[in-house]
Amino acid sequence: MLIDSHCHLQHFELDERRAALARARERGVEGFLIPAVRLAEADDLLAFCDSEPGVWCALGVHPHDAASWAPGDERRLRELFAHPKAVAVGECGLDFFYDHAPREAQERVFRAQIEVALEAGLPVVVHNRDSNDAMLAILEDPAYAGLAVDLHSFAGGLDMARRAIPLGCWFGISGMVTFPKADNVREVLPELPRDRLLVETDTPYLAPVPHRGKRNEPAYVVEVADRLAAELRQAPDALRDLTTANFHRLFGRTQEPAA
Ligand SMILES: [Zn+2]
Repeated sequence: MLIDSHCHLQHFELDERRAALARARERGVEGFLIPAVRLAEADDLLAFCDSEPGVWCALGVHPHDAASWAPGDERRLRELFAHPKAVAVGECGLDFFYDHAPREAQERVFRAQIEVALEAGLPVVVHNRDSNDAMLAILEDPAYAGLAVDLHSFAGGLDMARRAIPLGCWFGISGMVTFPKADNVREVLPELPRDRLLVETDTPYLAPVPHRGKRNEPAYVVEVADRLAAELRQAPDALRDLTTANFHRLFGRTQEPAA
């Protein structure tokens, strides 16, 4: 059994979502976490999660959309977590590569969502691109001690990893681990705590070798997990069990029976 801890299936048409789930299940992928990128997606995502076993969502606002954050969104987000299949806050964070929203707004909206996560006792699914220093400054804020963080599609490098590990962060390993030039992604792997490793596709982006350049989908998390196992010199089955157990420990609500 294997779990794709980060797949944006909301970008697929409904019949394509179900077909992608079926192809993944055929390969032993039984769990799926779909991170929202804006609050307007929440109702659709929750309805989809309700219709499928083993499918959960994170709810939040991506840094690209931080400028859309409106008064009342914090309360709306808090209310949405009454739903048992909403298991994390996110995808939220910082993106200083694209800078689609002003950096000040990105930081403010990220902090607002961290507050919701702490209040609700939920983890945050974090996007971070070209923003290591600002990200660490926020995560190292003593007010956020105890926050559970999934650094999704981690590509932050050794220095970032060494500061994120003592904070208790978790690390989402994506298809980048298979890219020939991604030594920066692979070199950190031996240093990451095994009990805080997750695997993900980041569907529809970052398709792993040998699917590179195609639309990614959750079935390809098998290639991600197999490469991670090889890098760590672990048996593929052991790595599947490990990352599945890790997923349920971080996203504690996924252990509850579906309502
Ligand atoms: Zn994402």
